[in-house]
Amino acid sequence: MSKIAVYPGSFDPITTGHLDIIERISHVFDHVIVLVADADDKKYLFTADERAAFLKKAVKENPKVEVDVFKGLTVEYMRRRKANVIVRGLRAVADFEYEGTLASMNRRLAPEVETFMVFSRPEYYFISSRGVKEVARNGGDLKGLVPDFVINELNLRLRG
Ligand code: ADP
Repeated sequence: MSKIAVYPGSFDPITTGHLDIIERISHVFDHVIVLVADADDKKYLFTADERAAFLKKAVKENPKVEVDVFKGLTVEYMRRRKANVIVRGLRAVADFEYEGTLASMNRRLAPEVETFMVFSRPEYYFISSRGVKEVARNGGDLKGLVPDFVINELNLRLRG
């Protein structure tokens, strides 16, 4: 049976940190689905389709990676796709508590689903979508923090 990992998140927008996790887990699993969340209660800068399009562009050279959009519980999506590993990335201590409760909730909802945490590389641990947007809003240098084409998209959206 092929091993499928689902990497869910907002990816608003995709960063170098996310891309590093995707690349690394694609060496461990047969197939990786990057799942773009479309939650009603979250305010995103980019629509789910825009976020997915950026991801597709960024991972197009990797045949093991698929990008999908889903509105609803990740575990529901997992059942549909017959996948049982959720991958999440871990940066500083601040991620730990949030990721821990999320993994426990998912275990409660779907005991057959396992959450695997992947540590960020030290050189990327400070990169977050929120931080990147803050830098973009104030005209800072984003080189290396997000793919080059995303820098343009951020500038267009935030600085006109
Ligand atoms: P969410 O809104 O669901 O937290 P994000 O897009 O912010 O979605 O992040 C998706 C996942 O990627 C989360 O598990 C987050 O901790 C992880 N992540 C975000 N940035 C990095 C990074 N720089 N290095 C490693 N993991 C990261």
